[in-house]
Amino acid sequence: MTTVEEFRTRAREWLRANAKAFDAEAGSDPEGGGVPLAASKDFQKRLWEAGFAGIMWPVEYGGQGLGVAEYLAFSEVARDFVLPVMPFVIGLGMPGPTLLELGTEEQKRRHLPPMLRGEEIWCQLFSEPDGGSDVASLRTSAVRTETGWRINGSKVWTSGAQFSDFGALLARTDPTVPKHQGITMFIVDMHHPGVTVRPLRVATGHSPFNEVHFENVDVPADAVIGAVDRGWQAAVVMLRNERVSLGTGPRSRSNPLGFDALRELARARGLDRDPAVRRRLAEIHANESALAAYGRVLHEETTAGRNIGARGSAAKLAGAAQQLWASDLAQEILGDDLVLGSEDVAPVALAILTAPGMATAGGTNEIQRNIIGERVLGLAKDPGVDRDLPFNQLRFSR
Ligand SMILES: Cc1cc2nc3c(=O)[nH]c(=O)nc-3n(C[C@H](O)[C@H](O)[C@H](O)COP(=O)(O)OP(=O)(O)OC[C@H]3O[C@@H](n4cnc5c(N)ncnc54)[C@H](O)[C@@H]3O)c2cc1C
Repeated sequence: MTTVEEFRTRAREWLRANAKAFDAEAGSDPEGGGVPLAASKDFQKRLWEAGFAGIMWPVEYGGQGLGVAEYLAFSEVARDFVLPVMPFVIGLGMPGPTLLELGTEEQKRRHLPPMLRGEEIWCQLFSEPDGGSDVASLRTSAVRTETGWRINGSKVWTSGAQFSDFGALLARTDPTVPKHQGITMFIVDMHHPGVTVRPLRVATGHSPFNEVHFENVDVPADAVIGAVDRGWQAAVVMLRNERVSLGTGPRSRSNPLGFDALRELARARGLDRDPAVRRRLAEIHANESALAAYGRVLHEETTAGRNIGARGSAAKLAGAAQQLWASDLAQEILGDDLVLGSEDVAPVALAILTAPGMATAGGTNEIQRNIIGERVLGLAKDPGVDRDLPFNQLRFSR
């Protein structure tokens, strides 16, 4: 039986031998940025072989069967390294935990081990052109066939769809009941000939997300996650995991908007003695530490089977705010350098352009505030005039 300290030592040694160490003086580096997909897959496979992927997942589904202490020990050690694991963040942070909670035995045995080994990448297919915040207004349909379901419709803002093998998709299976009741979650093979993925280009020049169109995409009956027409409940499970993962996920020291990288940026420009900069750096450090502590509590409670309720929203809101504060400070430190550029500026500029998206991804700040207002503070609910009407009687603008 290995102790947590032995596990931590083994993790540090493995990472030293297999991952790029964060080098403060060489400047920051966006996590996994610019790493070819094949190299990311290879790294994830080796991470799993070494016993550091799926640390808390059950052994029968490819996990390590360890506890939250080992998970946190690995996260702490990994902060000092640049891990090229971005393609797996969604699968392991959202559909993976949802399958663990709601999937059938067969689904878990089929999908979780290849996810952990980096062999199959997953995306989340929730948002639609006419419904982002109001997920339950989705119009993608799934109609019963002799062998399963036929899916038609469109999704948008689907991160990583262009390299995904599977997606967790929400579709309307019963339009005759109110909008939250007639939804089902499906596992969709992204290589099906009826799936078209169109990358969307953003201000950074990258295509982090996509439009995805479904035309007569047949899925088998056993592709349902949870129960038919209970997809809203499955979505709530996935969104809860998403909010904790986005708000308090492990922060690498190589994050260009993290405390370590920002302090180095200030030092390189002789600003680390400036009292105003020091004060804001201290605030960033305090917030980062508070978020890490909050993340530990939420992980411990989730592992113990307790419902964290609206605290996932608080974590998501705090994580998004932290990125924006850090982005403001980075812009002040860099000043004209941000435009004129020196070698260490490119990853910071990329992170600055990406930071505002955090206030939208996984549910906007306003939506998180609504949840906290209603469930924690007991404020009046949003009027929601369409909640009780059958979906097929709702009036849409087009
Ligand atoms: C970086 C990034 C990655 C993403 N990845 C994915 C992904 O992988 N899969 C996926 O399915 N989606 C993804 N999304 C989509 C994201 O979940 C949606 O953008 C988000 O839910 C908001 O939906 P919307 O863009 O349609 O905005 P809208 O819902 O149209 O909102 C527009 C504005 O109105 C406000 N608003 C809306 N309703 C209310 C209300 N009731 N009360 C107060 N204010 C309100 C919003 O806060 C926002 O400011 C991603 C988004 C981003 C930015």
